[in-house]
Amino acid sequence: MTPLFDRLTLIGAGLIGSSIARGVLHRSLARRIVVADASETVRGRVTALGLADEVTGDLAAAVAGADCVILCVPVGANAAVAEAIGRYLKPGAIVSDVGSVKAAVVRDVAPHLPAGVHFVPAHPVAGTEYSGPDAGFATLFENRWSILTPPEGQDAGAVETMTRFWQGLGSNVEVMEASHHDLVLAITSHVPHLIAYNLVGTAYDLESVVESEVIKFSAGGFRDATRLAASDPTMWRDVFLNNRTAVLEMVARFQEDLAALSRMIRWGDGEGLHDLFTRTRAVRRSIIASGQDTAAPNFGRTDGSGMPAVDGRESE
Ligand code: NAP
Repeated sequence: MTPLFDRLTLIGAGLIGSSIARGVLHRSLARRIVVADASETVRGRVTALGLADEVTGDLAAAVAGADCVILCVPVGANAAVAEAIGRYLKPGAIVSDVGSVKAAVVRDVAPHLPAGVHFVPAHPVAGTEYSGPDAGFATLFENRWSILTPPEGQDAGAVETMTRFWQGLGSNVEVMEASHHDLVLAITSHVPHLIAYNLVGTAYDLESVVESEVIKFSAGGFRDATRLAASDPTMWRDVFLNNRTAVLEMVARFQEDLAALSRMIRWGDGEGLHDLFTRTRAVRRSIIASGQDTAAPNFGRTDGSGMPAVDGRESE
């Protein structure tokens, strides 16, 4: 593929940043890859893995001359990074990100970008519960959705370039408003993680059941929840703090529906339970039919190292 950028800078080389680097190298989407990361250990791993042409801890040097800069740091770190790089960006450069929340990213990053720099926030809806540069893999984004949320009035050419970039990494691309993204992802990703964290937390705290029994007798449902609940604590803290309104709205609805479900169980409403479970089974079947999951055991996914690769459920 013809490179889309002469110089691409990735800030943050964890699971997502390193997967982008691998995909870009694999598909020659940029002539030069620069990686900046706050962690010396991460920088050492990026160098050892050969993921970049330049590796630095200096944000100003990293973005100087870049055609495209993608922030791949936890959502809560975006404001400080944007403030640090703003004045060093070259006119015409595209700034993007990969954050799991979008309205907060627009709020935190846009004010620091000079006129003439294009801003095309993005969210690859793909991930695993693993973190760091060693967890990344080039095929992470293949056949997954990447959502672009350009603020109103953004340059159409920049949006088109980022569309081609994510398509180049194997993704399907959809453009939507940041607030709509946050509402959709609250129910498809954020609340499921919250429930998983809560479920595993409750099991862990049960005084009458010892921890070894929880692990020994963990059935499918609990095991699946533990995978979500093993997702990166920093990333998920930032997701909930930055998508408060949508998450709380969905939690309120969820609580109402849970109360209705409890009532059906209390009053022996087998028909009601059966009806609901039949409708929810249809949702699972449509997800498989749309190619967003497979009916194979372990979700049919591996990441090349034998580790199951789940959508980060966001890990999405
Ligand atoms: P990660 O594996 O923890 O990597 C984040 C990297 O950014 C770490 O190396 C971290 O260094 C570095 N970093 C943190 N603050 C920094 C700063 N101020 N300047 C430079 N580097 C900094 O996280 P990730 O899973 O790749 O997630 C990154 C972003 O992708 C998040 O916004 C998340 O919402 C989004 N996302 C994640 C997934 C997923 O499944 N994981 C899926 C889609 C989108 P330290 O380790 O030293 O903190």
